[in-house]
Amino acid sequence: MNEYVKRVSDNLIRLYSHEPEYLQSALTWLEMIAPAVDDPRYEKMDLLSRMVEPERMFSFLVPWVDDYGVVHTNHGFRVQFNSAIGPFKGGLRFHPSVTPSVVKFLGFEQTYKNALTGLPIGGAAGGADFDPRGKSNREIMRFCQSYMNSLYRYLGADTDVAGGDIGVGSREIGYLYGQYKRLTARSESSALTGKGLTYGGSKVRQEAAGFGAVYFLNRMLEHRGEKLEGKRIAVSGFGNMSWGVCRKATEFGGKVVTLSGPDGYIYDESGVNTQEKFDFMVQMRMSGVDKVKPYADKFNVPFFAGERPWEVEADIAMPCATQNEIGVHDAVAILTNGYRYYVECANMPATRDALKILRMSKKVLTAGSKASGCGGVAVSALEMAQNSVRYSWKRAEIDQRLQDIMGSIYDASVAASEKYGLGYDLIAGNDIAGFKRIAEAMMAQGL
Ligand code: GLU
Repeated sequence: MNEYVKRVSDNLIRLYSHEPEYLQSALTWLEMIAPAVDDPRYEKMDLLSRMVEPERMFSFLVPWVDDYGVVHTNHGFRVQFNSAIGPFKGGLRFHPSVTPSVVKFLGFEQTYKNALTGLPIGGAAGGADFDPRGKSNREIMRFCQSYMNSLYRYLGADTDVAGGDIGVGSREIGYLYGQYKRLTARSESSALTGKGLTYGGSKVRQEAAGFGAVYFLNRMLEHRGEKLEGKRIAVSGFGNMSWGVCRKATEFGGKVVTLSGPDGYIYDESGVNTQEKFDFMVQMRMSGVDKVKPYADKFNVPFFAGERPWEVEADIAMPCATQNEIGVHDAVAILTNGYRYYVECANMPATRDALKILRMSKKVLTAGSKASGCGGVAVSALEMAQNSVRYSWKRAEIDQRLQDIMGSIYDASVAASEKYGLGYDLIAGNDIAGFKRIAEAMMAQGL
């Protein structure tokens, strides 16, 4: 490996061994972009050290009172990772697993994901170790208000634009935006994205993450002269990303046969492909129970407690749940159960070892979440654009733009991979394409 890359990697290991998710995402990225660290000015300007660390990061306490009058104190975070190509932009995650390391890895991934969209958005991420499971609407509202009391001074349409992620959907964005508006006395709609359609939200935003992943998958299929029609897809998770994948895959004649939750997975031989099933997924998510078994009970299909969907034979694996959900055991299952496409939808769904195993296979085409998973934030950027011109485009226009963006990310990934002699390597290609875009902007702006 390039000496400079090695030095930056060693430095990260020395400094951040206590932040495993962040270290994992940064080291994997450095490995992928190493062949493209080909300009001596990068080292002279110590560009890589400035690209792998956040520009700044905040943590704050989020005290709130539950419906029984009991006080709780959660921990909130926001990492403003990189602003080279636009205002900081990224989601908020409310989940008990949120730590500084998780927020930093999300900010890192978001930065290079956003660069790939070709839209003027920098990278950020945030969240809290709040567990939305079993909380009432009022509790969620009070939590969001307290969260915004601490965060509002750091957000802004031209500063840092927050959006959704796990545990933060349009209901939470509504409460957060309401409080932001109250505190700032400004109707600054693009300080938050994922808003409701009546107050500046974009059409297709809810569907965008999953739709985008399927558009990307279609290009991979096309590369092999194949079509989605008749293919079986194993999906993990049952949240917003999975829901969009099920809907768009159904439209193209593909069949999603699994969904999963922390409790296990369901196997639906006939496919998750009716309006009733899509609506039930939304209901399961909104119930705040975080279990997928109710789907099996409702539609009378098998449920496998504590198991992972990749033990099912299918053509396409689409991990839509969360980071590190694919371990070595899962990677081996994907290689042995007939899969020919592995399309990351969640942020960094595979461990480093699992990803190595998957990438060794010639049979399985792999796509990285910074590319295939960026439909959501792409439409968030379109939401910002619509807010700034006080206009709202038609649904079909936005869907077409999303499709174009996913296509250009695919093309850029293929081109970067070929340029650096890596053949058809979509993951290295997307990392290199994102790296080059931000590197150029940072070099132009000086230290
Ligand atoms: N959390 C989403 C993502 O991973 C979207 C964030 C946003 O819309 O800002 O890209």
